Amino acid sequence: MSAIERQLVVFDFDWSLADQDSDRYIFEVLASDLRRHMKTAKLETQWTDLVAESLRKIHSRGITREQIENTLRNMPFHPAMVRGVSKLKAEGKTTFFCLSNANEIFISTILKSKGLHDLFDEIITNPAEWDESGLLKVRRRVDPSGPQHGCTVGCSANMCKGEELEAFLARNTTKYDRIVYVGDGSNDFCPILRLRSHDKVLCRSFRGLETRITKEGEKEGLKAQIHYWAGAWEVEELLGKLSI
Ligand SMILES: [Mg+2]
Ligand SMILES: [Zn+2]
Repeated sequence: MSAIERQLVVFDFDWSLADQDSDRYIFEVLASDLRRHMKTAKLETQWTDLVAESLRKIHSRGITREQIENTLRNMPFHPAMVRGVSKLKAEGKTTFFCLSNANEIFISTILKSKGLHDLFDEIITNPAEWDESGLLKVRRRVDPSGPQHGCTVGCSANMCKGEELEAFLARNTTKYDRIVYVGDGSNDFCPILRLRSHDKVLCRSFRGLETRITKEGEKEGLKAQIHYWAGAWEVEELLGKLSI
């Protein structure tokens, strides 16, 4: 293919950039009974709403902002991932964009603790803020009282990652010669359907995205090249091959 001068790397956050799921991990550490409850409650309650509700519960139990922040900073995050993205970023020809169903506070707290606070040009996720009492308030990106997204591929009500990727590309004047999407979950399937045949997906094996690619990829007209990985050290290798 012709020379690549500018590329976009899109990262899902949980189990992709980070080596854990932030929404679940904080409850596993701070209130495992709530973690257990979330497993069944998610069948009836939208996931972002359930995380917001569980955060209100741990706040009422006296769990502090500091405890939550410390838990986030200690969440598994592989050094090979830090190395891989830092090297590609330093080369200067890659724009990094984060598309996540976690929330602004979880992501910014974790990125800061890894020295990656300026990795992303833009982060699209659920809004979140601390109030004065130390309660972390999380909201859906798509407000439930307003117009809803039109996704037909199965994205959760809080956000359609495919629509968000298209909106990002539409509002940026840069033309990307290649898009590389790093993801693991079933909600990463919608955005990868928007990629072209010379774009790449770095898909984490054994999780929801691999299942959907296998079952629905051909039917849905998936065009991008798929590369599988299991550990962050393998993503570091794959990112190393994206040097321009
Ligand atoms: Mg994920
Ligand atoms: Zn979607």
